[in-house]
Amino acid sequence: MNTLALPSSLHITKNYSNGAFVETSKTFDNISPVTGKVLSRICEADKALVDATVQSARQAFNGIWGETTVEQRADYLLKVADIIERRFDDFIAAEVLDTGRPVEQAKKLDVYRGIHNLRTFAEIFKHEYSKTECFESHLADGSQLLNIIKRKPLGVIVSISPWNLPLLSITWKAAPALMAGNTIICKPSEETPSSATLLAEAFQEAGVPAGVFNVLHGFGRDSTGEWLTQHKDIDAVTFTGESGTGASIMKTVASEVKPVSFELGGKNAGIVFEDADFDKAVEGIIRSSFTNSGQVCLCPERVYVQRSIFDKFVKAIKEKTEQLQIGWSEDEKTFMGPLISHGHREKVLSYFKLAVEEGAQVVTGGGVPTFGDERDQGAYIQPTIWVGLSDDARCVTEEVFGPVCHIAPFDTEEEVIQRANNTDYGLAGVLWTTNLSRAHRVAPKINAGIVWVNHWFARDLRTPFGGNKLSGIGREGGTYSMEFYSEPTNISIRL
Ligand code: NAD
Repeated sequence: MNTLALPSSLHITKNYSNGAFVETSKTFDNISPVTGKVLSRICEADKALVDATVQSARQAFNGIWGETTVEQRADYLLKVADIIERRFDDFIAAEVLDTGRPVEQAKKLDVYRGIHNLRTFAEIFKHEYSKTECFESHLADGSQLLNIIKRKPLGVIVSISPWNLPLLSITWKAAPALMAGNTIICKPSEETPSSATLLAEAFQEAGVPAGVFNVLHGFGRDSTGEWLTQHKDIDAVTFTGESGTGASIMKTVASEVKPVSFELGGKNAGIVFEDADFDKAVEGIIRSSFTNSGQVCLCPERVYVQRSIFDKFVKAIKEKTEQLQIGWSEDEKTFMGPLISHGHREKVLSYFKLAVEEGAQVVTGGGVPTFGDERDQGAYIQPTIWVGLSDDARCVTEEVFGPVCHIAPFDTEEEVIQRANNTDYGLAGVLWTTNLSRAHRVAPKINAGIVWVNHWFARDLRTPFGGNKLSGIGREGGTYSMEFYSEPTNISIRL
């Protein structure tokens, strides 16, 4: 049973605008995905608060934040990181209670990466942001120009994030945006408002000036998300979420030609060659398909296994998957918690039904586990494996975003590359092989923003992250984030 408790400041979870915590009259419930009980009440930001927040973010950008040096901004972010570390248990409680995930995962992934994002971008920008390029030019009349290229922040950034990795997503955007000298308004998902609000407490305690970092709560359409992206006085939108939502935000900002950075959905391929280390590949596919209950944009939902090892692989993965523990967040043996909500479980269950209608053979799972306690009111679901679907089945082409994968046999390298790339998405790929030449040959041919060989999910934050096609626009990470959150200006001086 879970004994974690939300910090009392979150019982009524407020917006953070212009350096103050703001209550609004309209609230909505934050529901536990573990028990279905109400965890807290969330204050939805209304249009007036959206306006006031954009105005204060603009003032801070034009004023106090605009006057800071990159070193001063780094000091602020490092202070925020230290505060998160000091309040580690509060952040764990917030993240775990909102999402139902295992505490061990929140420790090693979510809160760890929240801190790591702040520290990494502080260091990278400190070294890279103030670098200038210079071009000398000689004109026909004999005169000389000195062209100095200087980076400038964009202004007021709106960050809209999803519920699957809440603190990780918000710090991944806010850290580089602030380091570049922008101010930011973050709208976390309505499903996971708590860690963003604790982050605001950390920004306040670190003394970051009012208006620089803001958190507004609410929904998407006809609510805070849409009002923010529609606002005339914002300068860019950085968004992580579904491809359809990205398309609709793109339409919203199109008339004002605002820059966007989009990290969207995926329908990633995992490929297991017959020369793979068999046991590691089985473990690896289980981990990559079912971590966070399959609610990671990078999970492979399509797995291709070379025919000579196909039957053995399916048998092994079935056995191991059936041993995975689903349960309480605080039980160290728990591998999988619930899905984020009953609404999302309905969506995933509709794919379970559709797969059978489309002719899938269910290797394992396909339903809802029962516990005989209050978890039966939660949003738990079984990890599920299908075989037997054709490559054009909806369950093989559409993102389910649950603990599910379809496994299909393949014969040749050329064939599997073609099938892996036969998708509207292009986010990630995973290869399992011990043949080094094959790894080098196949990985660059997978049309995706990242390809892992013999592992999954580990990231060096200096590398570019993002997707192709329906999976997104642009790349963030390291100096790639600098490209989005600032723009170069040419100052041309006649000597
Ligand atoms: P979602 O698109 O439903 O919601 C994301 C955010 O957008 C939420 O804060 C929501 O309130 C807001 N929103 C919804 N409609 C809006 C609108 N019209 N205008 C402005 N804001 C709006 O996504 P989700 O269900 O929260 O997250 C799951 C999705 O996110 C999956 O598709 C997953 O693949 C994707 N994802 C992608 C990445 C990546 O890096 N590529 C990372 C994590 C999640």
